[in-house]
Formats: sequence, C-alpha cells, structure tokens
Amino acid sequence: MDDTSRALIGSAAGSQPVSEAAAGAILTIDLGAIRENYRRLKARLGGVRCAGVLKADGYGLGAAQVASVLAKEGCDIFFIALPGEGIALRKAIGPGPDILVLNGLPPGSEPEALAAGLCPVVNSATQLKAWRQAARSAGRSLPAAIQVDSGMARLGMAPAEVEAVAGEAGAFDGIDIRFVMSHLARADEPQQVANEKQRHEFDRLRKMLPAAPASLANSSGIFLGPAYHYDLARPGAALYGVNPTPHEANPMLPVIRLEAKVAQTREIGAGTGIGYGHTHQADGPLRLATISLGYGDGWHRRAASAAWFEGVRLPFIGRVSMDSIILDISALPAGRLGEGDLVELIGPSQSVDDAAGHAGTIGYEILTNLGTRFHRRYVGA
Ligand SMILES: *Cc1c(COP(=O)(O)O)cnc(C)c1O
Repeated sequence: MDDTSRALIGSAAGSQPVSEAAAGAILTIDLGAIRENYRRLKARLGGVRCAGVLKADGYGLGAAQVASVLAKEGCDIFFIALPGEGIALRKAIGPGPDILVLNGLPPGSEPEALAAGLCPVVNSATQLKAWRQAARSAGRSLPAAIQVDSGMARLGMAPAEVEAVAGEAGAFDGIDIRFVMSHLARADEPQQVANEKQRHEFDRLRKMLPAAPASLANSSGIFLGPAYHYDLARPGAALYGVNPTPHEANPMLPVIRLEAKVAQTREIGAGTGIGYGHTHQADGPLRLATISLGYGDGWHRRAASAAWFEGVRLPFIGRVSMDSIILDISALPAGRLGEGDLVELIGPSQSVDDAAGHAGTIGYEILTNLGTRFHRRYVGA
C-alpha cells in the first residue's frame, strides 16, 4: 500500500482524528474488502435483498464510512441498535436509505426518531401503541418493522403478544409494516435443530400478522441456506470479515489490520521481574520491546496473546498495561526491531477470529472494542 492509495476520510465517532505520527497504533480499515464481502453475500442470496447492519458504529469500523461503501453497491436498508445511532447515521448519509432501529424506541424518543426519518423495529405491544399514536399525531402513516420472538427470548413480541395484537381491531392503524422479522439464536451452529424450530415458529407467527416482506437471517443465517433468506437478509459481522461459518474456512475477506508502534526496546538479565506484579521473571537474558497499545485500546488484559513481525511470533510477556504491552522479541536478531517500528496485532498472521480465540471472546467483541486512540486509515474506498 502506498500513501496515495490511502484516504483518511474519518475517525471513530466522538473522537478526534489522530495523525499517524502521533498515534501509538494504526488501524487500517479496508473498505474495498467490505465491498467485496457485501458482493459475496449478495451472490449467495440470489435476488434477495441485503441490508447492512451498522450498530455500534459499524462494529467499531465507522458506520458512516461503511454506509457510504454499501450505498454505492445498492444497499438502501441499514440497521442500527439505538435511535441515537440512527440520528447520527442519518446526519452522515442524508435522506434516502431506510434506517431501522433494532432495539425499538425507548419511550419518549418517538419525536426525535420521526424527525430523523428512522423506522423503528417494534418489539412489543407497548411500542406498537406508541408508534400508532405518533402516526396519529403526525397525521400520516409511519413505517415500522415488527419483530417477533421465534425462540431467543431477547427482543420481539412473544407468541402470546403476537396473538393478542393480531386479534385487536385497529392494532396496525397508521403503521406501514415494511418487514416482519425475527432473529436466530444459534445460526452459527448449522446442525442445531433450534434453527429449524425458529424458522417454523417464525412462519407460524408472521402468518397471524398482516402480510409483509419477511427477514430472519443475520450473517450466519445466510449460510443456513435459501429457506432462511426470505425477503431481506441482515448481515453485520460477515461484512467486517468475521467468519460466519466458524466450523469451516472463512468465506469472507479480512477487513482490518492493527499495528502497534514499538515505544522502546531493552535487554534484561536473568531474574529481572517483568511488568506489573512481576508476573514473569526472566530465567535468562531476554530482549524485550514495549508497544504502545494496551487494555485502554480494547486489548483484553487477560488475553494470552502475541504480536507478529515479518511472520515471527513475539509473545506477550508479563501483564497487559493500560497503554502498553511488553513483547519478548528474543526470536528476532538483535537490533532488528527499533523504536517506531510496527508490529502486527491483527492482520495476515493473526485474524480477528484468532485474536478473539486468544482472548476467550468472539470476533464481534474484538471489533467493537477497538480503541479510539488509533490512527484510522481507510483504504480501498
Ligand atoms: C446484530 C444483529 C444482526 C447482525 O448479526 P451478525 O451476526 O453480525 O450478522 C442482525 N439482526 C439482528 C436483530 C441483530 O441484532
């Protein structure tokens, strides 16, 4: 990558852009890879529509930047979790695309949501009533998705609630039902009968409601096959390079690269205590490098992990600090790594899913924890 192919077009929401020189670590986000991942999912979906899920600032990668790439691919439906995220996204992308609020509208947020042209995902009879009232006050019908709980017990109308509103005269007056949707609890486990059970329950529940396009599949759900595709898929993680088929090779392109700068190097002798708590003591001479990235940047303190340099694994040694991590670089020739050099935390040698495995978590959490102190470099737009 040369500098002319790099375009800095933004930074994490709420934080100031940090220059490459001043930052302790560089996060490279490949918008071209996100575009290609969207195309791969679309190809799997045949003619079925494909939304983009942009909650938590586009899984930490920048909702506005991701939205603009997806919009150019013809994507005109975006999902976020909260109305605040929707209002910010609407400001960034302007009028046009639908923005759906997955968690529904907290009571009292209806006027703001209406002003920003958001479409709530209605998850309860109470929310349905509030949106119906908002439509009456506005003097026009308002769009909504209706979510039913087909077997996850998280968000959406429970079966009894679906039956109740289905039998209630005027329950959907003034509501333009764009989608009836539900969410899968175990989509990443293709052998699980829970998936089929949820699909059948989804079919049973949506048939009680006014006819509308249906949506069930998240990233992994797309890979469960056409029976799960309905009229609209809602991928998030797969767009960002997280493996939607954890039991198989990743069908998506990697999207991010995270590199930290060496702040300092040193040589130590046997018996030297390393880092907070002296949790590690050198049993012989060691060469160490301290990098400018720590748990304050979202790198889990308890993650047993390593950085990489030119394919050489450099294990963490001692505790992860807030702003730094000590690496054992004894595997490299003396003087090979110096101040300002970059080591890889996520990239060709260690994927997001690998890093998640070392931290005892999932790729989703690695992405959404990515810190605000990094220099963010967007490429491939
Ligand atoms: C987060 C979310 C998605 C996207 O899920 P991925 O696994 O990231 O593809 C889709 N639908 C709902 C309801 C969600 O909460």
